[in-house]
This record gives sequence, structure tokens and C-alpha cells, in this order.
Amino acid sequence: MSGADKALKAIRDAVGTKGWIGDGDGMEPYLGEERGLYHGTCAAVVRPAATEEVAKVVEICSHAGLAVVPQGGNTGLVGGGVPDGGILLSTVRLNRIREIDAGNLTMTAEAGVVLADIRAAADEAGCSFPLSLGAEGSCRIGGNLATNAGGSGVLRYGAARDLALGLEVVLPDGRVWDGLGRLRKDNTGYDLKQLFIGAEGTLGIITAAVLKLFPRPQDRATALAAATNLEKLLELFSRVHESRGGSLVAFEVMSRICVDFATEHVAGVIDPLRAKYPYYGLIELAGSGPGLGDALETVLGAAFDDGLLDDAVIATSGAQARQLWRLREAIPEAQKHEGGSIKHDIAVPVSKVPEFIARATAMVERELPGIRACAFGHLGDGNIHFNLSQPVGMDKQAFLGKWRHFNRLVHDLAMDMEGSFSAEHGIGKLKREDLVRYKSEVELDLMRTLKTALDPKGIMNPGKVVDGF
Ligand SMILES: Cc1cc2nc3c(=O)[nH]c(=O)nc-3n(C[C@H](O)[C@H](O)[C@H](O)COP(=O)(O)OP(=O)(O)OC[C@H]3O[C@@H](n4cnc5c(N)ncnc54)[C@H](O)[C@@H]3O)c2cc1C
Repeated sequence: MSGADKALKAIRDAVGTKGWIGDGDGMEPYLGEERGLYHGTCAAVVRPAATEEVAKVVEICSHAGLAVVPQGGNTGLVGGGVPDGGILLSTVRLNRIREIDAGNLTMTAEAGVVLADIRAAADEAGCSFPLSLGAEGSCRIGGNLATNAGGSGVLRYGAARDLALGLEVVLPDGRVWDGLGRLRKDNTGYDLKQLFIGAEGTLGIITAAVLKLFPRPQDRATALAAATNLEKLLELFSRVHESRGGSLVAFEVMSRICVDFATEHVAGVIDPLRAKYPYYGLIELAGSGPGLGDALETVLGAAFDDGLLDDAVIATSGAQARQLWRLREAIPEAQKHEGGSIKHDIAVPVSKVPEFIARATAMVERELPGIRACAFGHLGDGNIHFNLSQPVGMDKQAFLGKWRHFNRLVHDLAMDMEGSFSAEHGIGKLKREDLVRYKSEVELDLMRTLKTALDPKGIMNPGKVVDGF
């Protein structure tokens, strides 16, 4: 028996039959992602049910020099959880909520708990966990932390990085770091948890986390506002922020073409306004209230009087509020019905969002007449999904063949405007070239130094982020 075979047998013994998938059909769902950009291979899918099992598996891999690719809900979209050999370590069975301490406003949960279940458990305990994203029914909290996930509440609550107080991590040599502190203040040297958050599984495997909870909002107000241009929506954002800063949870924008796609292709999605407008802002306030609806109406009324808005609707029920959110959330799904689409997930300073969208749209239209730029996203934190739908009638594959070309143009522009080429989804495999292109030599050197120091054998999620460059 070879060294690798011996290691695989030892891993199988460590996790038992429930934790082991070795046949091709069983492994298949773990090997590719929704977008179909990547498809991998591995010797086995290993599904440990406890931290000690993860530690044992990683220790064996470390001795054998076998690669370990962590995977949560596999919704990452940049190829980060797709293996090229070695074993795939799925967290799906690490699915216990260990503790909710409502007095301390914390929850300790294992890495494989689905985000929607975390949110529901917080709610049941009379609290709230504000991380919310389109994939929350499938993505898992360990994956959210490993990618520093954002979503729609970043403006008020921050990204995943801001929502973790402590972590438990299995290191690349199999040791367990118990950093499950529940403190909001702890200035005792390096903040080690931040090394693993956003590292996309290249420095260790997050097995559990202490999450920050918040008091459950007693009042909520949601509105959709329409304007002729983004500068006006930016001004509206400033006004809402100024007057309702503490309760402003989300300020999303979308261009008309996004609304057209969503209402045309996704059942049950409606445009609640009578006429069509170039841009829309979706605004959500949440807090202890009451009176948030009235406050929002006052700000919107003044904005209307000052010529910033052309029309607006305020939800009068929870169902109406969900309907407005559905319009925003349906856009990625709707875009699939319009042929190929080339995605960008950029950030620029909030004040530069209108300029970025105007320049980027003009640039891509010059480059390929008929291309349809769908700009939508989180105006409140400067993160825009600048997604390009193919010209009507163009061959889909020919359009998708221009993926790298358009990425380069759009990312160059974002970087030129002091932005980021990856605001939410991380680097994975998809954006490795960009990482090398846009990060300074000093930054790359620091990243490589960390990687080598923590994972000298290079077994932890090889070929992702900075590994190999
Ligand atoms: C419809 C849709 C909407 C989305 N919306 C958003 C959004 O609004 N904001 C946003 O930020 N993202 C969004 N995403 C992307 C994705 O949902 C997030 O990146 C999510 O955090 C990934 O979680 P996951 O459990 O699916 O991770 P996976 O896809 O399984 O893994 C992602 C990366 O993390 C690593 N990893 C996973 N678990 C662990 C662990 N326990 N320890 C160490 N490394 C680990 C993997 O190796 C991989 O590199 C969306 C995706 C979809 C499909």
C-alpha cells in the first residue's frame, strides 16, 4: 500500500462510514460550482462530525503531504472550494449550535451550520444575527467567515469579519487553536482570528465561531425610490444616513435594465411604480422604533420636493417589504435568461459610485456595441455588481470568451478609482491573476510569508489565493 493509500485508510477509519464518500457519483456534487466555471477531482470527500475528527484528518494529511480543501455550502462562485486532488473536507456534519447567550448577545456555532439556521436560531432567542445574503439557505457560517461574506446589511453591521468575536481553528499541522473568546474587548497581542477570516481556507479550517448577536429590531421600514440619475440617489443616501444613520441597514441601487430582467423572467416579481425610471434605490431602516415608517416618509417627501426623486413607494406590510426585496434579489437569477453574463464584483469609495458606473458603462459599450450593463448592488458600502449581459443574438460562448478581457478593463477602472476588484466573493481560483496584478509586492510578500509560516507544507487549499505565486 502506498503512503497516500495508507493515509486515506487512516482518514476513513477516523471519520467512519458516515463521514466518508469515495465513489464518483457520491463525490460529484462537491466537485463543481453553480456557475460551472470549475470542476475538480479528489481522492475522497471527508465529512467529519466533530472538531477532534477534523484535527485527526488534518494531522494525517500533514504527515502524508496530502492536500486538504475545505468546503462549506459550496456557494462561493470563485472556485475556492473546488479541489485539484487531495481530499475535500466538507463541514456539513459540523452542524451544532453549541450555545446561545442572549445576555452576552453571542452565539457559538459550528462551521457547518447553514446561515439561515443561524439567523432563525438567533430570532428564536429574541435576538438577531444580521448577516444576510442570497445564498443564505445553502451557505454555511464557516464558509461565510472564510470568505468574509458581505450581503445587504454591511452598511449597518459590517461584514462577517465584524461579526465574529472568536474562532476555533484546526491548523495545517492538525493542532486545534481554541480562540472561542466571547469578549468585545481583548487587547492581548495579535488578533489571530482575523488571519483566518477571509483566508478562504488557505491557512486552516474554521471549525466553530462565536458570533455577535444584536437586539431584535422592533420596527422596520422599507421603501423603493426612483430617480433620473445616480447622483440624485447618492444625495438621497447622504440625507437618509444623516437623519437615520443608526437605523439605516441597507441602501441598494439597481438600474432600469435590472428591473426589466427581474420582472420579465422571475415569477411573482413586480415593479410597484407606475412609470419606468433610469435608477432605483431600495432603502431599509430597522431599529427600536416606533415611527421608522414616518421618518422615512419625511425624508423621501423632502427629497421629492427638492427634485431628487421622481417617485417612491413605502411598504405598508411585511409582505410588501419582502416583495420590494424580491425585486432586488431576483436580478442575478433573471440575468441567466438573457444569455451569457460576465460578472464583476467591485467596490469604489461610495462617493465615486455614480462616476464608476457611468465610466464603466460607456467603456464596455464602446468595446462591444449592444452589450447590456446591469449595475446593481450596495450603494451604501460602495460595492457594485457590474454584470454584463451579452448583446441580443450574439453567440453565448463567443461572448463568454471575452470574460478575461472585460474583467481586465473593469477591474483596471475600479483600481484606478481607488477601488477593489473583489468586494465580496474573495479570490479563490478566479481572481488570482488580478491579485498579482493589483496588489503591491509588499502586500504579496506579506501574504506569502503568512502562508509559509502557518502552512509550511502547503497542504491547505493549495492553488488558491496567493498559493503558488
Ligand atoms: C445566489 C448567491 C448570492 C450570493 N450573495 C452573496 C453576497 O451577497 N455577499 C457575499 O459575500 N457573497 C455572496 N455569495 C457568495 C457565497 O455565498 C459566499 O461567499 C459564502 O460566504 C460562501 O459560503 P459557503 O459555505 O458556500 O462556502 P464555500 O463555497 O463552500 O467555500 C468558500 C471558500 O471558503 C473556504 N471554506 C469553506 N468553509 C471553510 C471553513 N470552515 N474553514 C476554512 N475555509 C473554509 C473554501 O475552501 C472556499 O475557499 C452569493 C452566492 C450565491 C450563489
